[in-house]
Amino acid sequence: MNAIDPRDHIEAPRTTGSALSLRKLTQIHGRGKTKRVALNELDLDINRGEWVALLGPNGSGKSTLLNVASGQLQPTSGTCAVLGEPVETLDRGAIGVVFQVTALDPRLTIEENLLDLARLQGLKRQDAMDRISEALKRSGLAERAHDRVAALSGGLARRADLARAMIHEPGLLLLDEPTTGLDPLARQSCLDHLAKVNCSDERAIIMSTHLVEEAARAQRVIMLDEGRCVADGSPESLCQQIGARILRIYETDFEPPSDEGWSKQGDAWTCPVSGHGDPIVEDLLSQGIELSVLRPTLADVFAQKSGRDLSTMEGPAS
Ligand code: ADP
Ligand code: MG
Repeated sequence: MNAIDPRDHIEAPRTTGSALSLRKLTQIHGRGKTKRVALNELDLDINRGEWVALLGPNGSGKSTLLNVASGQLQPTSGTCAVLGEPVETLDRGAIGVVFQVTALDPRLTIEENLLDLARLQGLKRQDAMDRISEALKRSGLAERAHDRVAALSGGLARRADLARAMIHEPGLLLLDEPTTGLDPLARQSCLDHLAKVNCSDERAIIMSTHLVEEAARAQRVIMLDEGRCVADGSPESLCQQIGARILRIYETDFEPPSDEGWSKQGDAWTCPVSGHGDPIVEDLLSQGIELSVLRPTLADVFAQKSGRDLSTMEGPAS
């Protein structure tokens, strides 16, 4: 995984009011043997102007949080306020949502899809056309307005979905794993586009992901594990919190010398160190143990904070 490149980041969060505020938010799915605590007394404040990545392994509660924030799921207990309003009375038109399954009709052109939506929201035809033309320009899709969605590449279709979610200029944009199924180039272009969208003080973006490279593009990363927040901060500050460097050992029969700081990520044992000259590194090298000393990534932060591996799977992606 790549180390964090500070050039990828835009300026610090601006704060112009609350976008999402959760207090002791608990969401329980199912009952009896199938009961799952998806969110566990979560407290969270996200302001307008922030671009937040919810990072966690499958099953950590990311989709559940976005479903609650979009009003699609009623919380079991606790409160959720969106753009300063209790989610129960929120005007859905105030938010934009992009979930994993596209909300566009593949048989229609991009423009027809957007027009349908704008009309549903009560916009007059001319207003709707103006907004659509603006949204398509912003998304770099002006030339594609008359292409049928079914004929678009995955990356363009996702961008069209984003244009749809933003047609009414929502104050909060919720995106559930928006780059799923995209090739690396389209993924990059989708994230570049989000960085541009983020240039508004008036809007917050909350995007879920299980990929550290993707989360590292956001201004703030909230790490979820079993429905709890285990870390919250800018990608740089989170990585700095765990140390200057992290050492990795891939030897299968390696036993860590102590419990302190050591954790397993996939096949590798890892431990934070100050650098190549750290006594732990010197000691292991003198024993002939092969190791690498690297800059920490958000995957290392997650492992240190949760004691678990970010790539831990809970069955199929949900
Ligand atoms: P993520 O999006 O991080 O993968 P989810 O929010 O989808 O996590 O799921 C959180 C937990 O809730 C998981 O244990 C998942 O199996 C469970 N869960 C999610 N949706 C349902 C549902 N409709 N019924 C039962 N359990 C569910
Ligand atoms: Mg999910």
